[in-house]
Amino acid sequence: MGDGQSQKAWLSATKKQLSVAYPGLTWDALASMLGVDTESFKAYRLPTTATGFSALPQCLKDAIASLLESSSSPASKPVEQAETSALLIPALAGMVVRKARASLIDGAMVAGISRLPGIPIGLNQEDRNAMALVSKACLSNGLPDHGAEIHELLWRCTLPFDHWLDIPEVRAAGLGRTNLIHGEDGIPTVEAEELAQKFTGLSAGLEEQLFLKFLELLRKQPTSIANEYYTRTREFVVRHPVCSSEELRKFGNEIHLQIWMLLNQEFYEPVPSAWEIDGTVPICAHCGNAMKKGKAGLVCRTTACAISNPATQGSTANASDILRANRGIRQYWIEPGLDEVRLFDTLKAMSFTVELYPDRDRVDIAIGEIGIDLKSYTSPETLGRKFKASIGGLAHYETKLLVIPDWILKATPSYIDRLKLAMDRKNILCLTVGQAIEYFKKRHADA
Ligand SMILES: [Zn+2]
Repeated sequence: MGDGQSQKAWLSATKKQLSVAYPGLTWDALASMLGVDTESFKAYRLPTTATGFSALPQCLKDAIASLLESSSSPASKPVEQAETSALLIPALAGMVVRKARASLIDGAMVAGISRLPGIPIGLNQEDRNAMALVSKACLSNGLPDHGAEIHELLWRCTLPFDHWLDIPEVRAAGLGRTNLIHGEDGIPTVEAEELAQKFTGLSAGLEEQLFLKFLELLRKQPTSIANEYYTRTREFVVRHPVCSSEELRKFGNEIHLQIWMLLNQEFYEPVPSAWEIDGTVPICAHCGNAMKKGKAGLVCRTTACAISNPATQGSTANASDILRANRGIRQYWIEPGLDEVRLFDTLKAMSFTVELYPDRDRVDIAIGEIGIDLKSYTSPETLGRKFKASIGGLAHYETKLLVIPDWILKATPSYIDRLKLAMDRKNILCLTVGQAIEYFKKRHADA
């Protein structure tokens, strides 16, 4: 947009310019080329001061720029390809996040993942546009049309992109190993939410919505108590993916009654009897979660644990005697929590004064002036771009550590180099959990 030029004027000028290549171009046609529904597109064309005005998100500006570029040079790539490459990923990720919200937050039926046809899922215009972009990308790359049917498409989204949408745009964005939905829980991956950014049509992130009640209860407390309750609650849950009613009852003595009730009634739920194997539920010796039957024996239900540790059964329990964390909690707290508490426990054992989730999760771990964030994105490019845009809570710390689980480096040996390149920030140290432990051993020895 030019200096001082309003968004409305800029869009009008853009449309005029595009009309050279597309005679008779209407606003609705332009909206559909951009994969935006016509009503939402109207909001971008209002005067800045009007009610209902929306600022154009960056991904749309990029898409418009690539449309302009492709239409002005005659030898350029076809327009379909230009719009697809700019919008395909955010539009698809946006659809995934909207569908998840419907099932996770609004309590609608879980749909799509089981590949069962006939489950009604409301599709809005944006969803249909996202599906059309997938179809277009598939057809122009000689792939079967994966965008035609919503159940099929959502099921595909549980697989890494290189299994089904191995196209140049996806490879260029470093997304080959990325999947948008966790197959087990039907919840968007952290990457899906990151890629969707402002493309979901939602004002708050899923995690924010999921923990709204919890955070509201905390806000009623004085800050230091709220921070303490936050850490205690999250740590309890991370250390108890399943817990007995006795454990939960005892924890009630350490926490505010209303928070305890929230844990009891919403964070935890009954364990289905189908989780029993030969009459009891096997419990993982490493992380305390339940185990399930895998191809070659029992495997832990926490994915991060199953990847990192040899399967080892500890105790067993009757399904009716224990509760399990609900699927949102599992995805947002328990999966990442495995490496967080492992690092926390190791540093504590080394006699550092270490805090877990300080200031209601400003960073994951802090030791005085050192802030540590753990992230398990499969794509170093997606994580790098996130931190390039904002380093979040690490800004409060003198020494900044961005730590990834060791299993991620094992899967992608070039991960750290690619992460540094995409992030382009010299003041953040990128390490694996194992390397971080070595780093602190050295600091300990030097002290
Ligand atoms: Zn485990």
